Amino acid sequence: MVQLNNLFQPLRIRDKELKNRIFSTGHMAVMLDDGKPSQRLAAYHGAKAKGGAALTIVEAARVHPTGDSGRPAIQAYDPACVLGYRKLADACQSHGCLVFGQLTHPGREMFLASDGSRPVAYAPAAVPNERFHVMPRAMPITLINEIIEGFELSASHLSQAGLDGVELVASHGYLLGQFLNPKINLRTDKFGGSFEGRLRFLKDAIQATRRGAGAEMIVGVRLSGEDKDYTENDLNQMLEICSALDSESDLDYFNITVGTSAGLAGSTHIVPPMEYETGYTAPISASIKSVVTKPIFVAGRINQPQIAEEILKMGQADMCGMTRALISDPMMPRKAANGDLDDIRACVACNQACIGHMLNACSISCIQRPETGRELQYANISKTKLKKSILVAGGGPAGVKAACIAADRGHRVTLCEKSNSLGGQINLAQSLPGRAEFGGIITNLNKELTKTAVSVRFNSFVNLDLIEEIAPDVVIAATGATPYMPEIQGAEEAHVVNAWQVLEGKANVGGRVVIADWRCDWVGLGLAELLVKQGCNIRLAVNGMVAGQNIPQYARDAWIGKLHKLGVEIIPHVRLVGVDSEDVYLQHTLSGEPVVLNSVDTLVTALGHFSETKLEKDLSKHSISHHIIGDCLSPRTVEEAILEGLKVGIKV
Ligand code: SF4
Repeated sequence: MVQLNNLFQPLRIRDKELKNRIFSTGHMAVMLDDGKPSQRLAAYHGAKAKGGAALTIVEAARVHPTGDSGRPAIQAYDPACVLGYRKLADACQSHGCLVFGQLTHPGREMFLASDGSRPVAYAPAAVPNERFHVMPRAMPITLINEIIEGFELSASHLSQAGLDGVELVASHGYLLGQFLNPKINLRTDKFGGSFEGRLRFLKDAIQATRRGAGAEMIVGVRLSGEDKDYTENDLNQMLEICSALDSESDLDYFNITVGTSAGLAGSTHIVPPMEYETGYTAPISASIKSVVTKPIFVAGRINQPQIAEEILKMGQADMCGMTRALISDPMMPRKAANGDLDDIRACVACNQACIGHMLNACSISCIQRPETGRELQYANISKTKLKKSILVAGGGPAGVKAACIAADRGHRVTLCEKSNSLGGQINLAQSLPGRAEFGGIITNLNKELTKTAVSVRFNSFVNLDLIEEIAPDVVIAATGATPYMPEIQGAEEAHVVNAWQVLEGKANVGGRVVIADWRCDWVGLGLAELLVKQGCNIRLAVNGMVAGQNIPQYARDAWIGKLHKLGVEIIPHVRLVGVDSEDVYLQHTLSGEPVVLNSVDTLVTALGHFSETKLEKDLSKHSISHHIIGDCLSPRTVEEAILEGLKVGIKV
């Protein structure tokens, strides 16, 4: 049995005790009530507290109106935030979980104001931001002083709300980090010019925060050990900064991460996708730990208790940020403490429904656990009063989830899968390079299934004969989808295969390949990587602005960087119109002009999917009570499949 001795050691900071070493880092959940913490946000954090986390850090709140960047954020400078914070603290502290608030100012990281106009962005100096294309205005000293006062005022509000601590966000290239960076802070006054000058703003903000927070609250700072981008903040600089801050008596801990929001490459590390190794930031926190005396927190792909334990055992950090691990399974700490490691639903770092939702201004959730972020609706799923016989057709994620929930509620459930394994399209997705972890979704669903009394039949195709034999009260059709294959002019003369045939190893792919990618998701990117690594010359022709347009930015951008290194040519804004034995004919989606790609051996189509509706039609003709879910309702992603499985499992 795995020993987790270090993970469940308490840690004392000031006069407060963190009961174990697991915490949730500050992250935007998009669950606010007009700039204030909402009941929904309290329930979301409360679920992690109930699950045994020692600490949850509430998302970055603004300390000054010039920091209202256009993204929904708590306005901590406004006393109206206190009540919401207090309710959130109550929801967590009652479970022995500490609550910290984060304070920030984005500086030049500005988007749109709520009226659609662009606010004036302020930064240490007029140095442009590459990612958001913002040229900021150099911040006047009067504004610097106001913002420092804003840290004090905001911290006092967090203190009034009864929070246990406050963390200043100097990481990821936001304002405090911008002042630290000699490439961005070109000031010649007392807030720039020298190492001490560049550090002054952060030191003043820490002292102001302590004044507002009082003596009892824990005060920490979050820093990026490395930016991993053009901004060039590196570990050597950060070692110097942390050494200088270590003697600050107002500061209690360092929270180390990597990346910067200032560039596309650096931002992929803010919420690292599965391309990055688990626990990859720990060597960086270990270096910083070696030069300071205060406790070190770390985050970055720590998705399993065993990984956290190893980091702690090696002395690389004192606390492990396991944010997505808690999003995909808020009960993870309790399960780990009880030795039920196999029951943990591990995060697969797909980034789809957590940070992916946030980047689309939607409330965060999890593709594997749609209850997350919907705690007010689904925290308690009631048992059925009328036990029914349910037949679920299809063992993909939609069908398995529906079967699990219906069985948990007390129904008698039979799940029929036409092949000899569960998982549906996930089985294909996990075969792509760097996507093996995606298969964890099947492992996790299988675990859920084995805890239920669902009767599973493999190699069992559901048709009217089988329905007659089983005689269920209700049928849930989750029969999935097949590749969409429109008529392609000239296809009969050419070598054309589809994405599924390649992934199933059923296609003979020639050396010079064009991938026609309509959906702009992980399929096109993954096929390109797979085939280029097999020695093919790859041109990825996408019907969008960018390859991977429809997957979360951090996952997409890490992948595009990798494909560039591998020599894949990406052609944006093109639709497939035809093919012959040597050429692929495309049309530019904006100009309408032809784009012809010559010398092609194989055209691989990734044109999306088509719903499998045969069973639905049969059911409708025979008036059998039924529900349609997942891709056979409309081809989308595993997220919608599992969410619809949950909903129908509750409904039947
Ligand atoms: S959506 Fe994906 S990355 Fe986010 S918590 Fe769930 S499994 Fe992890």
